[in-house]
Amino acid sequence: MKKYECSGSDYVYECQDCGYIYDENLGAEHKDHPARVKWHELPDSVPCPDCLFR
Ligand SMILES: [Zn+2]
Repeated sequence: MKKYECSGSDYVYECQDCGYIYDENLGAEHKDHPARVKWHELPDSVPCPDCLFR
């Protein structure tokens, strides 16, 4: 995952496989990821919410 600094103390991540953008502020609730979960707190087996459920 590519990490981008966002305004403030939060970060957005871009999956280099599929281009999915993960915003720590928003989470990905439609993919069963709650908001405010930091990317590094996700299981190592999760490449990204999009790749996982593809
Ligand atoms: Zn992905």
